[in-house]
Amino acid sequence: MRISSQLPRIDIVGLPEAAVRESAARVRAAITAIGHSFPQQRVTVNLAPADLRKTGAGLDLAIAVGVLAESGALEAGSVARKAFVGELALDGRLRPLRGALALAIAARNSGCAQLVAPEASAAEAALTPDLDVRAAADLGAVMRHLQGDEPLPRAEPLARVAASSRLLDLADVRGQERAKRALEIAATGGHALLLRGAPGSGKTMLAQRLQGLLPALDPEEALEVTRIHGVAGSLRGAVAAERPFRAPHHTASVAGLLGGGNPPRPGEISLAHHGVLFLDELPEFERRALESLRQVLEERRVVVARAGATCVFPADFQLVTAMNPCPCGWRGAPQRDCRCDDAAVARYAARISGPLLDRIDLHVPVMPVAWHALEAPVGPAGSSASARERVIFARARQRRRGVSCNARLPDADLDDAAQPTREASSLLGRAVERLGLSARAARRALRVARSIADLGGEPRVEAPAMAEALSFRDDSLRAV
Ligand SMILES: [Zn+2]
Repeated sequence: MRISSQLPRIDIVGLPEAAVRESAARVRAAITAIGHSFPQQRVTVNLAPADLRKTGAGLDLAIAVGVLAESGALEAGSVARKAFVGELALDGRLRPLRGALALAIAARNSGCAQLVAPEASAAEAALTPDLDVRAAADLGAVMRHLQGDEPLPRAEPLARVAASSRLLDLADVRGQERAKRALEIAATGGHALLLRGAPGSGKTMLAQRLQGLLPALDPEEALEVTRIHGVAGSLRGAVAAERPFRAPHHTASVAGLLGGGNPPRPGEISLAHHGVLFLDELPEFERRALESLRQVLEERRVVVARAGATCVFPADFQLVTAMNPCPCGWRGAPQRDCRCDDAAVARYAARISGPLLDRIDLHVPVMPVAWHALEAPVGPAGSSASARERVIFARARQRRRGVSCNARLPDADLDDAAQPTREASSLLGRAVERLGLSARAARRALRVARSIADLGGEPRVEAPAMAEALSFRDDSLRAV
């Protein structure tokens, strides 16, 4: 910041975008509104680094405080190690801003001890550990704080509410025992899942229930989810209490799915971070989105590139996908005849690339439930609460082996972790020979078998676990 004796005006340099350039007018008006005189000289505000585009109106408060400090209205030492965020109204009031938690964490990480934020955003910012967050209503209050006349109140962090019990329950789904079992295995090992069946067979209903089988968010995960949803502007006045469930439509844009825009916003894959991403009608998604998804599944984050900078959003989610068996949807279903020829069915399946399918460990056919089964008592999978207990138990076993989840077991460690018995090994060997299973498909089956063994509390993968794992594969989608 520099103030020189030329005609009074304010210049902002360093790649500011329109909203930032307009900051000059807001800052000037706000400073005047609180009874200070704007320097009768030329003020140059330099936003560093110069090659990074600056967006949004959130820089207003920092610019105003800088002008006041530089013009002598504030002691230079009073702003040391303090950060200021917020948009100014012309009368000096502070408006809330998006992504307050993300900004606060960045301020702390760059060495600031205190952050002054608009009242409406301060509670979100105050979730940041080891940062003193003060809530201000207007520029005048910030001035009194910095002059030592009237300290701003410390902001109370957003409330942490208990996870609600309104999550959908597995017990409400009758029949579908095999698909429920697959959900439990998926939740245990973090495996991606593909549900395949006719319209109305219950794929969506099943996918929605994976959320309730996962362990509750730990405090650190809850903070991360809150930070991302804060940046997206979809925070609901409290710390995230539940794992997110996101189900974007297949017509969603690539930017909507993966993130993008200016300023960059997290896409659906990041909004699903630490939760469940459900992609229904998988072959209908844009090919480019599906190709990128494969990489995201590997890296568990997404890089959004934009003019002058790149932005990294986390994207560590559990993937559930669903598709019809054929373009018309009724192949293999008892209610209706399929109208598709074999070539059309093959083209439909081929829309999902092999490399993406390779990352989906569990393939589950879903058949419509017969009417009599709808009256049947709750099956062995039971309620979500009981399934979740088994999942938590099985996950603890994985942690004791030093892995976060079986789906991420590196190839090199797979045999050591699975410790298949001789019978299990020879069963897998026979599947490779007789069914022409690829080495990659065999490793997928072994990972799933490890999760099944963990659910059963077995130290080694035995033959029944191996056989069950091998049953969750689908040769019709591609030659495995
Ligand atoms: Zn069909």
